[in-house]
Amino acid sequence: MARFSNLLRFFRRKKFPFKFIYSDDYWVDLGQHVFPVLKYRLVYEALLRSRVKKENFILPQPAEDKDLLLVHTSKYLKKMKTGNLSDSEVLTLELPYSKELAKFAWLFVGGTILTAEMALKDGVAVHLGGGFHHAFPDHGEGFCVFNDVAVALEKMKQEGKIERGMVVDCDLHQGNGTSFILSKKDYGFTFSIHQMDNYPAEKPSSSVDVGLWSGDGDEKYLSSLREHFPRLYQQFKPDLIFYLAGADPYEHDQLGNLNLTMQALEERDRIVIEEARKLHLPVAIFLAGGYAREVEDTVSIHLNTIKVAQKVQRKYF
Ligand SMILES: [Zn+2]
Repeated sequence: MARFSNLLRFFRRKKFPFKFIYSDDYWVDLGQHVFPVLKYRLVYEALLRSRVKKENFILPQPAEDKDLLLVHTSKYLKKMKTGNLSDSEVLTLELPYSKELAKFAWLFVGGTILTAEMALKDGVAVHLGGGFHHAFPDHGEGFCVFNDVAVALEKMKQEGKIERGMVVDCDLHQGNGTSFILSKKDYGFTFSIHQMDNYPAEKPSSSVDVGLWSGDGDEKYLSSLREHFPRLYQQFKPDLIFYLAGADPYEHDQLGNLNLTMQALEERDRIVIEEARKLHLPVAIFLAGGYAREVEDTVSIHLNTIKVAQKVQRKYF
């Protein structure tokens, strides 16, 4: 844990100007699996060690079915409750089904809804989880059971808390589920910057897609991002931004082939968060994917995102 020492010193000096959403129940036993469930707890523990006070963490409740039904079909909810999934559905989900997995999925959606609400209140909120962007209305895909971000955006809209929501998806993988769900809704804008020659094979159009290729690195990534921000914020004028700060564009990720350094990922976070906050737009932040060979690297990247959010909040608010 020595490698987090710089971050921890940074955190200690200042109080946090926003809330974290986290539960000790952000855990499910997946057996031998590339998905590092442990990272949620590791990020939480690193924040505690840096003396972020317990009162800065808010405990989520599982999402209610009526909220999930804003996006998902009742048939799919029933399948997830009962475990009545076909072999091919389990293969597409790429996670072993268990009752615990279903509980985990319901809780994460509750966490993402709470994060959206807290971001609207404080300007920024960070979910120590979330960003399951491959889930579709009637099935799960690629480690994603429910599309937590689409559900939260839809709920905020239905409750009149926002007019327009924007998803800024900087996970390595294209946000196929989110793009599909929001494609017909003029109040939802989806931006995805991702590796083209990677999962998912089919990439439904986002409002704006930026496709990069194996081997593309810091410069290409950051210049592509700068072409779009803050312009897209100014044009679409969202009332809330859902930022998927995936750690998987990292150069040592097991599932990705982009060559981004940790410093570039931090600059990416700065562009997305700072340009939004300069315009007084609230940002709900989600950790999303991250499969570095060393889980500590994934945790460091997530902590860097939090550090950037803290710096930006202190600078502007
Ligand atoms: Zn990913």
